[in-house]
Amino acid sequence: MEYKSFLIKYAEIGTKGKNRYVFEDILCKNIRSAMKRIEGKFLVRKEYGRIFVDCLEEYDFDEAVEALQHVFGIVGICPVLVVPNQPWDELKEQVVEFVRENYEDCHFTFKVNCRRVNKEYPMHSMEVSREAGAVLLDAFPELKVDVHHPDVMVNVEVRNEIYVYSQIIPGAGGMPVGTNGSAMLLLSGGIDSPVASYMIAKRGVQLEMIHFASPPYTSQRAEQKVHSLLRQVAKYSGRIMLFVVPFTEIQELIKDNCPEEVFTLIMRRMMMRISQEIAIKEGCQALITGESVGQVASQTMPAIACTDAVTSMPVFRPLIGMDKDEVIAISRKIETFDISIQPYEDCCTVFTPKHPRTHPTIAGVEKAERGTEWDEPIKRAVEGTKVTVIKAFSKGE
Ligand code: ATP
Ligand code: MG
Repeated sequence: MEYKSFLIKYAEIGTKGKNRYVFEDILCKNIRSAMKRIEGKFLVRKEYGRIFVDCLEEYDFDEAVEALQHVFGIVGICPVLVVPNQPWDELKEQVVEFVRENYEDCHFTFKVNCRRVNKEYPMHSMEVSREAGAVLLDAFPELKVDVHHPDVMVNVEVRNEIYVYSQIIPGAGGMPVGTNGSAMLLLSGGIDSPVASYMIAKRGVQLEMIHFASPPYTSQRAEQKVHSLLRQVAKYSGRIMLFVVPFTEIQELIKDNCPEEVFTLIMRRMMMRISQEIAIKEGCQALITGESVGQVASQTMPAIACTDAVTSMPVFRPLIGMDKDEVIAISRKIETFDISIQPYEDCCTVFTPKHPRTHPTIAGVEKAERGTEWDEPIKRAVEGTKVTVIKAFSKGE
């Protein structure tokens, strides 16, 4: 069956009253951007608590579904048959045709569920459901009715037009990006941070990204890798502002002036200071990292306490309680894994101490930082930051 429309199901939680309109409008906007990346012309419209995507030109079904499956806030995607409002005798044939075209083998249980929004339609919803059930049983003797746990629910919605659908393709869930403020995410070229970005974008947070580069220790290729990762993440999060911070001077200062066992920790504190400064300028409300407790020496709880001591902004770590296996499973699902595992140099791996301190104290790290002038180098790093806008991969790229 060639579908000309999709009915979009979204979670109702948190979308009552005035919020509901904001939520729906942002979701429609995000769906429009997602559909722009694929071939065909689509109309996204809102109608009495429903969102529809009408396909106005030839399009590829799988591609359209895939694009919709990247939009947070959608829980189900229903390919829907739209027919003009018509008397029951004609409608019933459409319902039979719908089942015939969608199911080769009708050995299953079903139920017809009718919703009558257009109260002028001459039959009540109960009547439509009952009649449609009878007509289907006549046409397909293998079918059986099960009103409690049907294998297939045939939905008939009577509006200005009539909508028939039975398939619900799972969506990405979450909340539409842009409904929950914005945050600055620290993105390396590894496996974890792209997954962290997916998880926080899923909660409706608009993301901006910061990447620390230390040329010539890190190469142009490492930066290209970050671009590739973000083009993939942007399929979910929408377009991303990327801030690339020149970090060489600060890293060399750390190497020349601080005890080796706290190199990484001080480096992370500098990253946080710079990230917070840029985040405030950008109007972001939080910082996000891809850390998880105990993964490496700089991610023990005392180390994290030392890192957080330099920020006043909340720092969220969506992977904090996850095992690497779980993170990898998500990175495969969102298709960042293969990009992440390409070899690259990260500024974190440039001056790695042999024996990093795993139980640092804030006082100890502050002492190690004393005697070096950081403010001017930090200012230079912020001023030297380059901004790029990254868009999602589109068809054929
Ligand atoms: P990842 O897969 O994210 O690189 P990792 O296990 O390599 O994680 P670390 O290198 O210790 O962990 O980094 C921890 C977190 O610090 C990263 O998830 C990221 O948020 C941030 N980070 C590390 N390096 C950079 C960088 N060069 N630019 C921006 N953020 C970074
Ligand atoms: Mg890393």
